[in-house]
Amino acid sequence: MEFEPVIGLEVHAQLKTRTKIFCGCSTQFGAAPNTQTCPVCLGLPGALPVLNRTVVDFTLRMALATGCTVARESRFARKNYFYPDLPKGYQISQYELPIAEHGHIDIAVDGRPQRIRIRRIHMEEDAGKLTHDPHRPVSRVDLNRTGVPLIEIVSEPDIDSPAAAGAYLRQLRSVVRYLGICDGNLEEGSFRCDANVSIRPKGSSGLGTRTELKNLNSFRFVEKAIEYEINRQKDVLLDGGAVVQETRLWDQSRNQTVSMRGKEEAHDYRYFPDPDLLPLVIDEDWIGRVRRSLPELPDARRARFVEQYGLPAYDAGVLTTDRELADYFEKCLTIFPQPKPVSNWIMGSLLGLLNARDIAIDQSPVPAAELAELVKLVDEGALSGRIAKTVFDEMAASGKTARAIVQEKGLAQISDALAIESVVHEVLAQNPAEADAYRGGKTKLMGFFVGEVMKATRGQANPKAVNELLRKVLAGSSSPRSSL
Ligand SMILES: [Zn+2]
Repeated sequence: MEFEPVIGLEVHAQLKTRTKIFCGCSTQFGAAPNTQTCPVCLGLPGALPVLNRTVVDFTLRMALATGCTVARESRFARKNYFYPDLPKGYQISQYELPIAEHGHIDIAVDGRPQRIRIRRIHMEEDAGKLTHDPHRPVSRVDLNRTGVPLIEIVSEPDIDSPAAAGAYLRQLRSVVRYLGICDGNLEEGSFRCDANVSIRPKGSSGLGTRTELKNLNSFRFVEKAIEYEINRQKDVLLDGGAVVQETRLWDQSRNQTVSMRGKEEAHDYRYFPDPDLLPLVIDEDWIGRVRRSLPELPDARRARFVEQYGLPAYDAGVLTTDRELADYFEKCLTIFPQPKPVSNWIMGSLLGLLNARDIAIDQSPVPAAELAELVKLVDEGALSGRIAKTVFDEMAASGKTARAIVQEKGLAQISDALAIESVVHEVLAQNPAEADAYRGGKTKLMGFFVGEVMKATRGQANPKAVNELLRKVLAGSSSPRSSL
């Protein structure tokens, strides 16, 4: 029997506001525990929440960027449960009336375009953070994170493979980062994903029992965990068993999902409208203001890079994944306006360097203007491609400019015909037998001569000029130096 997976993702994105969603406490990461709290986010009796307008602005940006319908009136509810990181005993979230619904994200998997529908986007507050001491039976709670604003983006179960789940998440992350509403940092937990996974007989339309996967803090783990879970459910069904609805954790050390707890139903939380907060009313003006403030989004920018710069779709996709990277590319073009060579250098050497050092583009040791200068030097023939790679490494290591390094080390490419020609003559004089054999018809020896000349010039001769001059000299008089 063949099965097909049905996957839906719930993403929590932490909004980059300065203050929390219902109070004026700072959201800054890394402060001493419990120093960024007040009666509101501690949930003390009588304290009243006030909605942060910027949270609504940011959520509207996301809603409009993903083609959602914005609710003119939405509501906050209380989601009741007890946990030590939740002093109020309930989380304020949107339930029945979310701010946005019915959007979508477009992805491509192996070149096949797919549209993943977004069911809803809603605002909510984060809970605190528990740290468990591994050596003693002690847990500590830090409430700095209580009340930090989140949006939850819930997809429809339109995702049909682990790779599609990865593509959807990358695109979503790209969008929140373009919008400047979330830093998209999975490791620090500001972009978190839970996956709902079920399988069904191939071609059927019903839905199987699903499990929810948590603790997925990298794109790779998301794909691996979903893959594992699909196979686990297959084994259960093929053994005649039934999949249990539950929450499972991804255990990265064992590469498997493990049962965490039975899955709650919505009614377990006893949702009800929060009496402390008025319904949120959003008028056309507000939506219009936010719509006009939207930046160019990844899809549009990718299309423009293909159209305006004539880049291959692949290059355009890589360069526009990240807004800062796309900005870097366009900054290079203001200095050296040849898109493809610049793209090659960015996708090859620069991204290789950033990956190796595990840093972001805005921390690049080689600024856009300097990279553009380097590409320009190669284009002008002042530097050979091979030596340029060495110069790039030196720029990254020392922070010096390409021109400075070339001058300092005498790396300029020798394009001067006289200089090269004298080396050509030397090489031929040192290898008279090969020169005669070449003239006798053994033209394959050209490669040997080119190699010798490059060796003699420490790789600095312009290979094109070397080829031309060798041909000219070998075709001419057999007497060395005659052409000088
Ligand atoms: Zn507070």
